[in-house]
Amino acid sequence: MADTNKQIASIFNQMADVLQILDANRFRIIAMQKAARVVKELTTDTASMTHAELLSLDGVGKGTADKIVEFCETGQMIEHNELLKEIPKGLPDLLNIPGLGAKTVALLWKEADIVSIKSLERALKKPELLTSIKGLGQKKIDMIAKNLAFAEQAGKRHTIGRAHLKAVYFVAQLRQLKEVKQAAYAGSLRRGKETIGDIDILVAADPKHASIVTERFTALEPVEDVMLSGKTKTSVRTKGGIQVDLRIIAPESYGAALMYFTGSKEHNVVLRERAQSMGMTLSEYALTDKQTEKTVAARTEEEIYKALGLDFIPPELREDRGEIIAAEEHKLPKLVTQRDIHAELHAHTHASDGLLSIRELAGLAYDRGFHTIAVTDHSKSQVQAHGLDEKRLEQHIKDIHAVRDEMAGKIHVLAGSEVDILADGKLDYPNSLLKQLDIVVASPHSALSQTGKKATDRLIKAINNPYVHIIGHPTGRLLARREGMSPDMNTIIKAAADRGIALEINANHHRLDLRDTHARAAIEAGCLLAINTDAHRPNDFNELQYGLLTARRAWAEPKNIVNCFAEDKLMGWLKSCRP
Ligand SMILES: [Zn+2]
Ligand SMILES: [Zn+2]
Repeated sequence: MADTNKQIASIFNQMADVLQILDANRFRIIAMQKAARVVKELTTDTASMTHAELLSLDGVGKGTADKIVEFCETGQMIEHNELLKEIPKGLPDLLNIPGLGAKTVALLWKEADIVSIKSLERALKKPELLTSIKGLGQKKIDMIAKNLAFAEQAGKRHTIGRAHLKAVYFVAQLRQLKEVKQAAYAGSLRRGKETIGDIDILVAADPKHASIVTERFTALEPVEDVMLSGKTKTSVRTKGGIQVDLRIIAPESYGAALMYFTGSKEHNVVLRERAQSMGMTLSEYALTDKQTEKTVAARTEEEIYKALGLDFIPPELREDRGEIIAAEEHKLPKLVTQRDIHAELHAHTHASDGLLSIRELAGLAYDRGFHTIAVTDHSKSQVQAHGLDEKRLEQHIKDIHAVRDEMAGKIHVLAGSEVDILADGKLDYPNSLLKQLDIVVASPHSALSQTGKKATDRLIKAINNPYVHIIGHPTGRLLARREGMSPDMNTIIKAAADRGIALEINANHHRLDLRDTHARAAIEAGCLLAINTDAHRPNDFNELQYGLLTARRAWAEPKNIVNCFAEDKLMGWLKSCRP
């Protein structure tokens, strides 16, 4: 069902690419990109929506709604077909080459008849063809030649877990320089997106120290190759294939630059329009009074938001999804933080596929300051994970109770299970056994290519089992590896909300399932969420940060998350889910 949405989103993205090459109005391009994003993230199939319902979506204007209806009815969009006729077919591929923007692509096409990656490769062998193009210097040509090899790789995105570790390392190293006043990572990484294109790092330093900073940066251990090096901007590629861009900013412009490079583009467009309407201009350098041309604010993000009449907007919310109006009305959510999390409700021991004993697991959770840890090993169908059959589970419950008694007064140790939701929605244990457990996380692990009604019915059946508390990683996706199920999310969310049980945000950075948009839909429908690390080994507890970022992108407050409940409230909730 989500297939229609995916097709429409990809058409809109393609149209945006073509419009860029044709140098169309910037706002038209951004509107098209936004429409693509909105449709892609929608929890409802557009084919089932009326024109009026489409219009009510933020980011969908009349023209966009018309196009969606046209596609649902005819399987194509005339405007899309017309646009494709205006440029050669292979041209948009050139946009994937790092450092090659739409302007240069248009130039290559019009001046040298370069219309694809192949013809660009050919042209690079005859340098005179390219050097004769006005506006294309030797430096740029060298860069294109160098980066061409990475065109394929450039479109690839990296998991947040991987990009985050690298970014933290670069920032920490640069902060050691006395010339560096401030340093931070920006971009989609700072906004906590589940995957990252490249890493943007900003450094505040006196321009006269720029070369010292650049030298240190390019000499750092993970750097494999310097792709581009200018006075204030340097791009490198790490040995692991991630592009990292460093920008050196004058300290007095640091806040404006941080805001600009954190994005999102859509958020920044609305901020710039707001500045305009208040008689100011906003750029990557400053918020400036139009009349006096004096700087109003620039040094920190806080003072820029304040001068725009807005509360500070946390980076995770900067997506133009209603945050600017909320900031104006002092109605931004009080986003959940690491300090609010008091329990881990999904973790494994070596009884199934974890590396920890029950006691070690409880000890780690206690060290984190948690009041509760749930031991939830796999059920019998997970043969490769050494899942427990009924008999082993009964013994496991006794073993957990022994640790529970030993740790009494320190931390609650709950006897639980991560029980498989089988392909038909039945659970892997009988209710008579589930009933003996303090907590039941029900998760899908097999038949994950199910779509539509089959997937929906399967999950609904599990939700309606009276002994289930949490649906673990509800779609079963693995980022960049497995799409997972695509059930009708609104139906799932409503059923879970009616039962009062929680849908999980699995914090493992390969999962992040529920994803941010689904989690936000859940919160809006009054459905509880859980954020669990699904720990199998000691370090897995650190994955919590990625689950938190996803929850924050979903506008989650502590009251929406069962792991934030005080102990009495949590125990009360566990009971309240049961008959
Ligand atoms: Zn699982
Ligand atoms: Zn698990």
